[in-house]
Amino acid sequence: MAQVYLLLGGNLGDKQQLFTKALEMIASNAGTITAQSAVYETEPWGFESNDLFWNQAVVVETRLQPLQLLEQTQHIEKQLGRVRHAQQYASRLIDLDLLFYDEQVIRHPRLEIPHPRIAERRFVLKPLAEIAPHFLHPVLHKTIAQLLADCPDQLAVNKLNKE
Ligand code: ADP
Ligand code: MG
Repeated sequence: MAQVYLLLGGNLGDKQQLFTKALEMIASNAGTITAQSAVYETEPWGFESNDLFWNQAVVVETRLQPLQLLEQTQHIEKQLGRVRHAQQYASRLIDLDLLFYDEQVIRHPRLEIPHPRIAERRFVLKPLAEIAPHFLHPVLHKTIAQLLADCPDQLAVNKLNKE
């Protein structure tokens, strides 16, 4: 069994319903969810939009190999109605990123692990720090807590207040 870290993200549609559905589909298609952070409301990174993002980090115990896991997460994105846009950073219904797969380092045309932009994104590090502060980044050799403390990103990342 591998332990993998995923980040859910989205800024369009019924985010509550999309995140609930995405977690259900991860549990049925990818593996057992063993930890999940709170949902964070975050400012868009890399483009302008009035629609705040939701982000949530989860830990999944899986028997899938990395590329099989990517296939499943892309299948879930598609099922949940994501439309691909020309520009790289754009609004979307649901985005599932593979952050870590155990301590593996993978450089494949379709899959880079650790995800290459973890250290520069507060919206990844803050939810991740909640569930895995001591996890050691296998390339940067710093813990998530250290990466968060060192992160220059100033965009707002706030725990969503559930009523
Ligand atoms: P982004 O998440 O950067 O906003 P996309 O979700 O559209 O962009 O992903 C673009 C491509 O990134 C996917 O087709 C996928 O093959 C590739 N990719 C490379 N590494 C990863 C990873 N660690 N997690 C998810 N996708 C990845
Ligand atoms: Mg993605």
